[in-house]
Amino acid sequence: MKIILLGPPGAGKGTQAKRLEEARGLIQLSTGDMLRAAVKAGTPVGLKAKAVMAEGKLVSDEIVIDIIRDRIQQPDCIKGFILDGFPRTVPQAEALDKMLGEFGWKLDSVIEMVVDEAVMVERVAGRFTCAKCGQGYHDSFKKPAKDGVCDVCGGTEFIRREDDRAETMQKRLAEFHAQTAPILPYYKSKGILRHVDGMAAIDDVTRQIEAILAE
Ligand code: ADP
Ligand code: ADP
Ligand code: ZN
Repeated sequence: MKIILLGPPGAGKGTQAKRLEEARGLIQLSTGDMLRAAVKAGTPVGLKAKAVMAEGKLVSDEIVIDIIRDRIQQPDCIKGFILDGFPRTVPQAEALDKMLGEFGWKLDSVIEMVVDEAVMVERVAGRFTCAKCGQGYHDSFKKPAKDGVCDVCGGTEFIRREDDRAETMQKRLAEFHAQTAPILPYYKSKGILRHVDGMAAIDDVTRQIEAILAE
């Protein structure tokens, strides 16, 4: 099964992708996570992406398309995958179709997470993740059971993203409208676009996605 989770920053793509990974054995392919790892490791791609990401702009199509092309050829992707944060532009969506075609694969569904954007600034402002295992949390909506201790791995160090500050978040939302929203009609015309209410509670969003995948 190959699916795309689509929505503005903060919509819950990463949260739901991790759940699908656990529940269905699919692989989460987050271009944001891969780019952050490249920045941290100081690779040539990371050096190019660093400033662009900090500003809340999109990294070039060429870079992310290359990353995805390499990644989906890894053996674990045979199990199926969830694209989280890719594609983000029409050229990326077209390149994805082309590469899936080359491998004889096709997308099962593109799930748009519909949210109230005014609330997304608050969502990303409260976002933090476990430094050890990457589990995502939120100051108000998803606190660890024990304060300061990761539910999953017991880690006690957490990270907040630099680009989650309110000013940068406004730019990222503007990028979403200008560059990413135009891919919705592209998938609609292919008949594979579905919607979930991303404002519902985390468990409820998972149920909505599971209902779509069970169709
Ligand atoms: P995205 O990957 O789309 O940017 P995340 O999955 O990282 O979004 O979620 C953003 C923040 O909002 C995280 O702190 C997460 O814990 C929280 N969150 C995710 N889904 C919901 C939801 N349905 N309701 C409330 N908070 C949520
Ligand atoms: P969010 O989960 O909040 O939607 P991501 O972690 O997916 O954010 O992305 C963080 C940043 O990484 C983006 O603002 C952008 O600079 C870069 N990025 C991630 N995926 C892509 C992509 N497919 N195309 C271009 N830039 C990307
Ligand atoms: Zn952890």
